[in-house]
Amino acid sequence: MRVLVVGGAGYIGSHTVRYLASHGHEPIVYDNLSLGFEEAVPGFRLVQGDLHDQSLLEKTLSEYQIQAVVHFAAFALVGESVSEPAKYYENNIIGTFRLLQAMRACNVQQIVFSSTCATYGEPDRVPIDETQRQCPINPYGFTKLAVERMLQDFHRAYGLKYAALRYFNAAGASPLGDIGEDHTPESHLIPIVLQVALGQRSHVTVFGTDYPTSDGTCIRDYIHVNDLAAAHELALQRLNDLPAMEVNLGTGHGYSVQEVIAACRRITGREIAVEFGPRRPGDPPQLVANPARANLLLGWRPECSSLENIVQTAWNWHLRHPQGYAT
Ligand code: UDP
Repeated sequence: MRVLVVGGAGYIGSHTVRYLASHGHEPIVYDNLSLGFEEAVPGFRLVQGDLHDQSLLEKTLSEYQIQAVVHFAAFALVGESVSEPAKYYENNIIGTFRLLQAMRACNVQQIVFSSTCATYGEPDRVPIDETQRQCPINPYGFTKLAVERMLQDFHRAYGLKYAALRYFNAAGASPLGDIGEDHTPESHLIPIVLQVALGQRSHVTVFGTDYPTSDGTCIRDYIHVNDLAAAHELALQRLNDLPAMEVNLGTGHGYSVQEVIAACRRITGREIAVEFGPRRPGDPPQLVANPARANLLLGWRPECSSLENIVQTAWNWHLRHPQGYAT
């Protein structure tokens, strides 16, 4: 399938581009390179363009005879979404609306969309299945939920076929160590801990030690970026017979912040200094997926998401690219 990967030069996008190409698809990358890197998609066709540029989107969709879109282009930092909500509303909601309008204009009827467990807010029960109430507690989660609603409405009214994939905590890197996570500033737990292991930071601050969890720190469900990539490919295959789906993508197993740091110590064999700080606003105590629906509908099962493999592949990437793509 000829697929436009919007935001394809970013972290999850670039792993998915590679995965799609190795599974017989022809990905075309569309990215404004504001957060993505050309070096993350070497050898792939890249159209440098913005989500808001509807005419360039339409030109690209028709010129390349695109059959389906995979859409990653979004701002995704909870804290920033609280301090700069306008940026999130504009890009994540209005930008996606432009993309969907361009798809309508070009009669492209299939989309796989990056959604998030942040659409659930503070879940009533864990593990979280897709029937749980979606009640986001920050603007980021709300913008993703708004797009899910847009997809449902466009499906009913215009026949758009969509899969909304609700990621839990994306982590890890390509086993080759040549592409991986590179954010400035970095805010995610595993890259920060590995930067401490590399000596680039003096310590990691654990945000909150008084949560109602086994060791008092937050629990998250870490899912390897290549397992996420595989789910996109499976979703593309199923869009014709399953034209409207929402699925969780996680392992079903959660790790506390302390457990993640311990795994990083084991795998790197290095000292990792820790300081204990207050809770970070907007962090629910525990987010763990029930991935049964993704298994049932997509035949998806995480294959490389052991915490060991996540940290090992991320470590390979950081060792080879201590300054990210600038290395
Ligand atoms: N976290 C932490 N220190 C950090 C970064 C993150 O204690 O420097 C915690 C954070 O509070 C959350 C977990 O690690 O409980 C995962 O955070 P991350 O930002 O990686 O992903 P999120 O869950 O926000 O998507």
